[in-house]
Amino acid sequence: MTRSFTFGGLPMRVLFGHGTVDQVGAEAGLLGMRRALVLSTLEQRDQAEQVARLLGDRHAASFDGAVMHTPVEVTERALGFARELEVDGLVAVGGGSTTGLGKAIALRTDLPQIVIPTTYAGSEMTPILGQTENGLKTTQRTPKVLPETTIYDVSLTLGLPVRLSATSGLNAIAHAVEALYAPDANPIISLLSREAIRALARALPVVVASPGDVDARADALYGAWLCGVALGAVGMGLHHKLCHTLGGSFDLPHAETHAVVLPHALAYNAGAAPVAARQVAEALGVADAAAGLHGLALRLGAPTTLVSLGLRESDLDRAADLATQAAYPNPRPLARDAIRALLDDAFHGRAPSGTATREQAA
Ligand code: NAD
Repeated sequence: MTRSFTFGGLPMRVLFGHGTVDQVGAEAGLLGMRRALVLSTLEQRDQAEQVARLLGDRHAASFDGAVMHTPVEVTERALGFARELEVDGLVAVGGGSTTGLGKAIALRTDLPQIVIPTTYAGSEMTPILGQTENGLKTTQRTPKVLPETTIYDVSLTLGLPVRLSATSGLNAIAHAVEALYAPDANPIISLLSREAIRALARALPVVVASPGDVDARADALYGAWLCGVALGAVGMGLHHKLCHTLGGSFDLPHAETHAVVLPHALAYNAGAAPVAARQVAEALGVADAAAGLHGLALRLGAPTTLVSLGLRESDLDRAADLATQAAYPNPRPLARDAIRALLDDAFHGRAPSGTATREQAA
C-alpha cells in the first residue's frame, strides 16, 4: 500500500539529445540573455569556445577558472568580471565544478543560468550549492541557485575520460540509491531512481569498454539526469555525509570517493531499509545490492579503496568522528564504531560487510 507522501516538483526546462547544444542561442534568447558569460574549467576551454561561437552575438565573455569545491575567491573573481562586462546571464559548460561556479554567481546576482553538463554529477538538477571558504565546505539549499535551463547533449560527453565516466556514473547512482530510502521519499522520485539505476548499470560497462558508443552514452546521460532530479528532490543520508566529510576535510576527489564508499554505505543501511535494498538489487539485476554495487565498481575499473585516493589510515578515526558528530536522518542509526568499521572496509577495499551473509541467507 502506498504510504502518505509529499511531492514538490522543481521548475526547470530540459533539452536532451544529440546536437542539442546547437539550440543554446535560442535558449539564451528565451531567458532574455543578450550578454552571456560562458563558464568552464581551463581543461574544457575548447568546449566553452564551441558554445561561445554558437551563442554568437549573445556571447559577452568567457571565464575558464572553475575549480573543484567552488572556492569563494574564484567566485569573487568571476563575479568581478561579470559585473565589469555587465553580463545578463550565465552558461556553464562542464561538470559539477563549473555548474557550482554558475550557481554561486547566481546566488549573488540572480542571473539566469543555462547548464550544459558534461559529467554525470547531476548538480544542474538541484537547488543545492556547496562552497569552500578558508578550507571549510558548507552546503546550502536555495531555489536561487536552481538553473533555469539544462541542455543535455550526448556529443559533449563522448570525450569524458573512461575513469571519470565510471566514477561519475557511480556518483550518480549514489543519488538514486539514497533517494530510495530517504525520509521524504515519494513514489515519483523512487520510480525514476529505479529507472536511473537500471539505465546507468546497463550503460556504464559499455561506456567503459567503448567510450564512443553513442547509445550507451545517451543511456548514461539519461540515467544521470534522473539521478540529479532525485538528488534535488529528497534528502540524502549516510553515504553523502561520508563523502562530504572525506571530500571537505581530507580533500579526497569527489566522484572517486562516491565510487568507493557507495557499496559500504548501502551495506550499512540495507538491513534497516530492506525495500530500498531490494529495489536497488532488482535495478542492478543482482541478488544483493551492496555486493552488486561493489561488483559493478570492479567491473568498471573504478577505484575501490580510500587508500588509493590518498586517505591515511590515521585519518579514519577523525573521519568517523566527523561523520557522526551531528545527527541527520538515516535508515540505520549512526553508530560511531560501526561507521569506523565501514570506513576501514572502504579504506582497504574489502567486500562490503554483511553481503556474504545476506547472500548465504538468500
Ligand atoms: P568536475 O566538474 O570537477 O570535473 C572533473 C574534471 O573533468 C575537470 O577537469 C573537468 O573540466 C573535466 N571534464 C568534465 N567533463 C569533461 C568531458 N566531457 N570531457 C573532458 N573532460 C571533462 O567533476 P564532477 O564530478 O562533475 O563535479 C564535482 C563537483 O561538483 C564537486 O565539487 C561536487 O561537490 C559538486 N557537485 C555538486 C552537486 C550539487 O547538487 N550541488 C551535485 C554533484 C556534484
